[in-house]
Amino acid sequence: KIFPQGAKDLKSKVKFADVAGLDQAKAEVVEFVDFLQNPKKYQQLGARVPRGGLLAGPPGTGKTLLAKAVAGEADVPFFSISGSDFIEMFVGVGPSRVRDLFQQARSQAPSIVFIDEIDAVGRRRGNGGFGGGGNDERENTLNQLLVEMDGFSSGTGVVVLAGTNRIDILDPALTRPGRFDRQIAIDKPDLAEREKIFLVHLKPITLQADLKVEDVAKRMASLTPGFVGADIANICNEAAIFAARRSAETVEMQDFERATERVLGGLPKQNGLMS
Ligand code: ATP
Repeated sequence: KIFPQGAKDLKSKVKFADVAGLDQAKAEVVEFVDFLQNPKKYQQLGARVPRGGLLAGPPGTGKTLLAKAVAGEADVPFFSISGSDFIEMFVGVGPSRVRDLFQQARSQAPSIVFIDEIDAVGRRRGNGGFGGGGNDERENTLNQLLVEMDGFSSGTGVVVLAGTNRIDILDPALTRPGRFDRQIAIDKPDLAEREKIFLVHLKPITLQADLKVEDVAKRMASLTPGFVGADIANICNEAAIFAARRSAETVEMQDFERATERVLGGLPKQNGLMS
């Protein structure tokens, strides 16, 4: 392979149980698992299986995680690439990378292709953008993506999922039927959802003996309005690192509190978050 560092092929071990909250989104993607496992069921009925799902929501809310969970539940290979990877490529490389990715996915079908940050290549065509340079390359890459998505019939067993936090700037060609015809909204977690996400990420943590994991999750959820899953994963990890630095054998509440401040310090300021 010319660019082995790009697309990754792996069997995902992520399951829906690893994705906390996002109940509505999970209910929608569960269909893709069934398409991947029982394509004949749909073919026999003459159904046209949706080819792609667009997971739209703020950074760090679990879009990639959910796509991996679809692959993990269906037990199919997961091929992924980030839209931003294309931006710095040499002329002509973007389209051939897309072709290569889909070729691999087809050869190992049933499979999933996940395109993270699809807005980086999927911005509406023909309106310039910044700087101008490299724009043709981006458009060629987008065109190749459209060609690939049209090129496989519903029988090929490749489901294409993509993540974006800018669904508003996507080229309408991408959201036409037969392409990303399912749009799945992923929102920032509310209090109850943050608690569930904490429970997932507290699992590997060795807590101080008198701390109950449920209580820690509840308290931490209330301390973290505006935080997303990626921040929560970060807090749990930082807390364990703080404890390790103290050479402690267990993680205490104060480690979580310090970790929250640390993670908060790294976040962009938002209303209601810094007060
Ligand atoms: P980006 O838009 O920046 O690509 P994303 O929405 O794809 O972000 P992920 O990469 O899926 O976010 O999330 C990063 C990490 O945050 C995950 O690997 C996981 O550890 C944690 N995480 C995010 N959301 C959840 C969730 N709902 N449940 C459990 N963990 C989560």
